[in-house]
Amino acid sequence: MATNKIIVITAPSGSGKTTLVKRLLASTPQLMFSISACTRSPRPGEEHGKDYYFYDADTFQNLIAQNAFVEWEMVYTGKYYGTLIAEMNRIWDAQKSPLIDIDVQGALAVRNKYPNQCLTIFIQAPSIDELRKRLIARGTETPQTLEERIHKAEYELTFINQFDKTIINDNLDAAAEELNKIVTDFLKN
Ligand code: ADP
Ligand code: 5GP
Repeated sequence: MATNKIIVITAPSGSGKTTLVKRLLASTPQLMFSISACTRSPRPGEEHGKDYYFYDADTFQNLIAQNAFVEWEMVYTGKYYGTLIAEMNRIWDAQKSPLIDIDVQGALAVRNKYPNQCLTIFIQAPSIDELRKRLIARGTETPQTLEERIHKAEYELTFINQFDKTIINDNLDAAAEELNKIVTDFLKN
Protein backbone atom coordinates (compact mmCIF):
# COMPACT_ATOMS: atom_id res chain seq x y z
CA MET A 1 0.00 0.00 0.00
CA ALA A 2 1.54 3.32 -1.06
CA THR A 3 1.78 5.98 1.62
CA ASN A 4 1.56 8.88 -0.83
CA LYS A 5 4.73 10.56 0.37
CA ILE A 6 6.21 13.51 -1.49
CA ILE A 7 9.80 14.76 -1.65
CA VAL A 8 10.06 18.47 -2.41
CA ILE A 9 13.50 19.89 -3.23
CA THR A 10 14.28 23.54 -3.70
CA ALA A 11 17.43 25.65 -4.00
CA PRO A 12 18.58 29.00 -5.30
CA SER A 13 19.78 28.64 -8.88
CA GLY A 14 23.42 27.47 -8.99
CA SER A 15 23.39 25.65 -5.63
CA GLY A 16 23.70 22.24 -7.28
CA LYS A 17 20.08 21.07 -7.07
CA THR A 18 19.96 19.52 -10.55
CA THR A 19 23.23 17.67 -9.93
CA LEU A 20 22.03 16.32 -6.57
CA VAL A 21 18.53 15.43 -7.81
CA LYS A 22 20.00 13.34 -10.65
CA ARG A 23 22.16 11.41 -8.19
CA LEU A 24 19.25 10.90 -5.80
CA LEU A 25 16.97 9.58 -8.55
CA ALA A 26 19.68 7.19 -9.74
CA SER A 27 20.17 5.76 -6.24
CA THR A 28 16.56 5.69 -4.98
CA PRO A 29 14.23 3.51 -7.06
CA GLN A 30 11.20 4.38 -4.88
CA LEU A 31 11.30 7.91 -6.30
CA MET A 32 9.95 9.14 -9.61
CA PHE A 33 10.65 12.60 -10.98
CA SER A 34 7.49 14.70 -11.04
CA ILE A 35 7.30 16.27 -14.49
CA SER A 36 6.04 19.84 -14.25
CA ALA A 37 4.06 21.69 -16.89
CA CYS A 38 5.59 24.93 -18.20
CA THR A 39 5.25 27.44 -20.99
CA ARG A 40 8.93 28.16 -21.64
CA SER A 41 10.52 26.67 -24.75
CA PRO A 42 12.42 23.41 -24.49
CA ARG A 43 16.20 23.79 -24.26
CA PRO A 44 18.37 21.66 -26.56
CA GLY A 45 18.06 18.05 -25.45
CA GLU A 46 14.88 18.57 -23.42
CA GLU A 47 11.85 16.45 -24.28
CA HIS A 48 8.12 16.91 -23.78
CA GLY A 49 6.93 14.36 -21.22
CA LYS A 50 10.42 13.77 -19.85
CA ASP A 51 11.84 17.09 -18.62
CA TYR A 52 8.58 19.05 -18.68
CA TYR A 53 5.17 18.99 -20.28
CA PHE A 54 5.75 21.92 -22.62
CA TYR A 55 2.44 23.70 -23.25
CA ASP A 56 1.41 26.95 -24.89
CA ALA A 57 -0.11 29.65 -22.70
CA ASP A 58 -3.71 28.83 -23.79
CA THR A 59 -3.38 25.19 -22.86
CA PHE A 60 -1.79 26.10 -19.54
CA GLN A 61 -4.56 28.59 -18.75
CA ASN A 62 -7.21 25.98 -19.57
CA LEU A 63 -5.56 23.64 -17.10
CA ILE A 64 -5.64 26.39 -14.47
CA ALA A 65 -9.37 26.88 -15.17
CA GLN A 66 -9.95 23.13 -14.72
CA ASN A 67 -8.16 23.19 -11.32
CA ALA A 68 -5.65 20.70 -12.69
CA PHE A 69 -2.73 22.03 -10.63
CA VAL A 70 -1.48 21.37 -7.10
CA GLU A 71 0.22 24.75 -7.53
CA TRP A 72 1.21 26.97 -10.42
CA GLU A 73 3.23 30.14 -10.70
CA MET A 74 4.64 32.63 -13.14
CA VAL A 75 8.26 31.94 -12.16
CA TYR A 76 9.70 34.28 -14.80
CA THR A 77 7.92 37.05 -16.69
CA GLY A 78 5.33 35.44 -18.97
CA LYS A 79 6.52 31.90 -18.14
CA TYR A 80 4.20 29.64 -16.21
CA TYR A 81 5.29 26.56 -14.28
CA GLY A 82 3.02 24.17 -12.39
CA THR A 83 2.70 20.80 -10.69
CA LEU A 84 -0.19 18.74 -12.08
CA ILE A 85 -2.47 16.74 -9.78
CA ALA A 86 -2.62 14.07 -12.51
CA GLU A 87 1.18 13.78 -12.42
CA MET A 88 1.19 13.10 -8.68
CA ASN A 89 -1.53 10.47 -9.13
CA ARG A 90 0.36 8.86 -12.02
CA ILE A 91 3.39 8.41 -9.73
CA TRP A 92 1.42 7.21 -6.71
CA ASP A 93 -0.48 4.75 -8.96
CA ALA A 94 2.92 3.33 -9.93
CA GLN A 95 3.56 2.81 -6.17
CA LYS A 96 6.34 5.44 -6.16
CA SER A 97 6.87 8.77 -4.42
CA PRO A 98 7.08 11.96 -6.47
CA LEU A 99 10.27 13.98 -6.31
CA ILE A 100 9.35 17.58 -7.04
CA ASP A 101 12.02 20.05 -8.20
CA ILE A 102 10.48 23.44 -7.63
CA ASP A 103 11.18 27.03 -6.59
CA VAL A 104 10.75 28.22 -3.00
CA GLN A 105 7.21 29.59 -3.31
CA GLY A 106 6.06 26.47 -5.15
CA ALA A 107 7.61 24.24 -2.48
CA LEU A 108 5.73 26.02 0.29
CA ALA A 109 2.48 25.82 -1.73
CA VAL A 110 2.85 22.03 -2.17
CA ARG A 111 3.51 21.65 1.56
CA ASN A 112 0.39 23.70 2.37
CA LYS A 113 -1.69 21.42 0.17
CA TYR A 114 -0.23 18.15 1.49
CA PRO A 115 0.93 19.09 5.03
CA ASN A 116 1.27 15.53 6.35
CA GLN A 117 2.96 13.84 3.40
CA CYS A 118 5.83 16.12 2.43
CA LEU A 119 9.52 16.21 3.18
CA THR A 120 10.77 19.66 2.14
CA ILE A 121 14.50 20.10 1.55
CA PHE A 122 16.41 23.30 0.87
CA ILE A 123 19.81 22.97 -0.81
CA GLN A 124 22.25 25.76 -0.19
CA ALA A 125 25.66 26.67 -1.61
CA PRO A 126 28.27 27.39 1.12
CA SER A 127 28.12 31.13 0.40
CA ILE A 128 26.81 33.68 -2.08
CA ASP A 129 30.38 34.10 -3.39
CA GLU A 130 30.58 30.38 -4.11
CA LEU A 131 27.12 30.47 -5.74
CA ARG A 132 28.33 33.27 -8.01
CA LYS A 133 31.47 31.28 -8.91
CA ARG A 134 29.40 28.20 -9.78
CA LEU A 135 27.00 30.16 -11.95
CA ILE A 136 29.94 31.76 -13.78
CA ALA A 137 31.65 28.36 -14.19
CA ARG A 138 28.41 26.81 -15.53
CA GLY A 139 28.59 29.36 -18.34
CA THR A 140 24.82 29.75 -18.73
CA GLU A 141 24.38 33.34 -17.55
CA THR A 142 24.87 36.82 -18.95
CA PRO A 143 26.11 39.48 -16.49
CA GLN A 144 22.49 40.63 -16.14
CA THR A 145 20.86 37.23 -15.56
CA LEU A 146 23.71 36.40 -13.16
CA GLU A 147 22.84 39.42 -11.00
CA GLU A 148 19.10 38.56 -11.19
CA ARG A 149 19.81 35.03 -9.99
CA ILE A 150 22.06 36.24 -7.16
CA HIS A 151 19.40 38.71 -6.10
CA LYS A 152 16.71 36.00 -6.16
CA ALA A 153 19.02 33.65 -4.22
CA GLU A 154 19.41 36.21 -1.42
CA TYR A 155 15.61 36.55 -1.25
CA GLU A 156 15.04 32.77 -1.29
CA LEU A 157 17.55 32.27 1.51
CA THR A 158 15.24 34.26 3.82
CA PHE A 159 12.78 31.31 3.62
CA ILE A 160 15.30 28.66 4.62
CA ASN A 161 13.90 28.20 8.15
CA GLN A 162 10.55 27.10 6.75
CA PHE A 163 12.00 23.88 5.34
CA ASP A 164 12.18 20.52 7.12
CA LYS A 165 15.84 19.97 6.20
CA THR A 166 18.66 22.04 4.79
CA ILE A 167 21.75 20.67 3.08
CA ILE A 168 24.87 22.71 2.42
CA ASN A 169 26.30 21.55 -0.88
CA ASP A 170 30.00 22.15 -0.29
CA ASN A 171 31.60 18.77 -1.00
CA LEU A 172 29.35 17.20 -3.64
CA ASP A 173 29.80 13.57 -2.54
CA ALA A 174 29.09 14.44 1.10
CA ALA A 175 25.98 16.44 0.16
CA ALA A 176 24.71 13.62 -2.07
CA GLU A 177 25.19 11.13 0.75
CA GLU A 178 23.40 13.37 3.26
CA LEU A 179 20.49 13.89 0.86
CA ASN A 180 20.26 10.18 0.22
CA LYS A 181 20.15 9.40 3.93
CA ILE A 182 17.51 12.04 4.75
CA VAL A 183 15.24 10.84 1.95
CA THR A 184 15.74 7.13 2.66
CA ASP A 185 14.89 7.66 6.34
CA PHE A 186 11.74 9.61 5.44
CA LEU A 187 10.56 6.96 2.97
CA LYS A 188 11.16 4.18 5.52
CA ASN A 189 9.00 5.61 8.27
P1 ADP B 1 21.08 24.26 -9.90
O1 ADP B 1 20.27 23.14 -10.51
O2 ADP B 1 20.82 24.42 -8.43
O3 ADP B 1 20.97 25.56 -10.65
P2 ADP B 1 23.46 22.85 -10.90
O4 ADP B 1 23.25 21.43 -10.47
O5 ADP B 1 23.28 23.20 -12.35
O6 ADP B 1 22.62 23.85 -9.97
O7 ADP B 1 24.93 23.27 -10.40
C1 ADP B 1 25.49 24.56 -10.71
C2 ADP B 1 26.96 24.38 -11.14
O8 ADP B 1 27.73 24.05 -9.99
C3 ADP B 1 27.14 23.24 -12.15
O9 ADP B 1 28.14 23.62 -13.08
C4 ADP B 1 27.60 22.07 -11.26
O10 ADP B 1 28.42 21.18 -11.98
C5 ADP B 1 28.39 22.80 -10.16
N1 ADP B 1 28.35 22.13 -8.83
C6 ADP B 1 27.33 21.43 -8.27
N2 ADP B 1 27.66 21.01 -7.03
C7 ADP B 1 28.93 21.45 -6.80
C8 ADP B 1 29.84 21.34 -5.68
N3 ADP B 1 29.52 20.70 -4.56
N4 ADP B 1 31.04 21.94 -5.81
C9 ADP B 1 31.39 22.61 -6.94
N5 ADP B 1 30.59 22.75 -8.03
C10 ADP B 1 29.37 22.19 -7.95
P1 5GP C 1 14.02 26.04 -15.42
O1 5GP C 1 13.33 26.95 -16.40
O2 5GP C 1 15.46 26.46 -15.19
O3 5GP C 1 13.86 24.58 -15.76
O4 5GP C 1 13.28 26.21 -14.00
C1 5GP C 1 13.15 27.47 -13.45
C2 5GP C 1 12.63 27.36 -12.04
O5 5GP C 1 11.27 26.87 -12.04
C3 5GP C 1 13.42 26.41 -11.13
O6 5GP C 1 13.59 27.06 -9.86
C4 5GP C 1 12.50 25.22 -11.00
O7 5GP C 1 12.71 24.54 -9.77
C5 5GP C 1 11.14 25.92 -11.01
N1 5GP C 1 10.04 24.98 -11.33
C6 5GP C 1 10.09 23.85 -12.08
N2 5GP C 1 8.89 23.26 -12.09
C7 5GP C 1 8.08 24.00 -11.32
C8 5GP C 1 6.71 23.87 -10.91
O8 5GP C 1 5.99 22.95 -11.27
N3 5GP C 1 6.21 24.86 -10.12
C9 5GP C 1 6.97 25.91 -9.69
N4 5GP C 1 6.40 26.79 -8.87
N5 5GP C 1 8.28 26.05 -10.02
C10 5GP C 1 8.81 25.11 -10.83
